[in-house]
Amino acid sequence: MFEETMQLSHNDMIVPFQLEQSALRGRLVRLGTTLDDILCKHQYPPPVARLVAEAATLACVLGSMLKEDGIFSLQAKGDGPVSLLVADYTADGALRAYASFNNESLSTVPDRFCELLGTGYLSFTLDRGAGFERYQGIVEIDGDSLTKSAQHYFLQSEQVHTEIKYFATAGGPPWQVAAVCIQAMPRTEDIGDHDLDRIPDGWDEMIALLHTLTPLEAMDTALHPHDVLFRLFHEGGVRVHDTQHIQHRCRCGLARAEQALATLSEAEALEFSDDNIVEVKCEFCNSTYRFTLAEVAALRGAD
Ligand SMILES: [Zn+2]
Repeated sequence: MFEETMQLSHNDMIVPFQLEQSALRGRLVRLGTTLDDILCKHQYPPPVARLVAEAATLACVLGSMLKEDGIFSLQAKGDGPVSLLVADYTADGALRAYASFNNESLSTVPDRFCELLGTGYLSFTLDRGAGFERYQGIVEIDGDSLTKSAQHYFLQSEQVHTEIKYFATAGGPPWQVAAVCIQAMPRTEDIGDHDLDRIPDGWDEMIALLHTLTPLEAMDTALHPHDVLFRLFHEGGVRVHDTQHIQHRCRCGLARAEQALATLSEAEALEFSDDNIVEVKCEFCNSTYRFTLAEVAALRGAD
């Protein structure tokens, strides 16, 4: 008789938590297969793939911290070889991401965050659907990572102390990343700029603990996230909430492609066509939807 030990993998998940005895809350995010699924649709050079991985992780961290549900989008736009990074997270755990880049100019710059993206900005959008106001926040890209730029945004624009520790393996597949974020509860009262200097209770101690987290602990999928959080914060107490599982899921589809084409004029449709065929390609998942010019014309007529 032989015994098989089942190794459970604790991956592709967001674990929300609250630190007791302080008004601090957090998220632990781990992504593995989900990132493989996102990245395998494209042939990104390693530096670009690493940026997409980080953007996708941040979208999970920040999107899941919002009070309201909707589609949370993180976008980085710059004048460097990687001109655009987009990651979308929806509250039901769907994640998608992509990058636009120029391969030629990519080979001429060092693999450093500021050189890859260049000068630009990072934006956060929450789209709650028709009838709701869109939330958008923007910050200049600075610091030495996307993570640092995001942290900066929360302190400067939202006046909320935020610390994110991000871990990633050097490459993949298989890809593996993890992030732990600690954030002070957003303040409800109006505050002045001078209040930014007010450090939330327990902040320094908890951040010091957060920085004892090792890459191995953060990314070891055999180690349950609850154990990771308990090891870090057990002294002051930590309460975990329901886990949100994450998977790669795109929102594109035939209906959306048809919607986009219906807005084209006859001349535009002709211009975009090749051999009587108009193609709509989803940048996120690389799915391609093909229509004949006659079908496009019918879409234009239909209402
Ligand atoms: Zn798609």
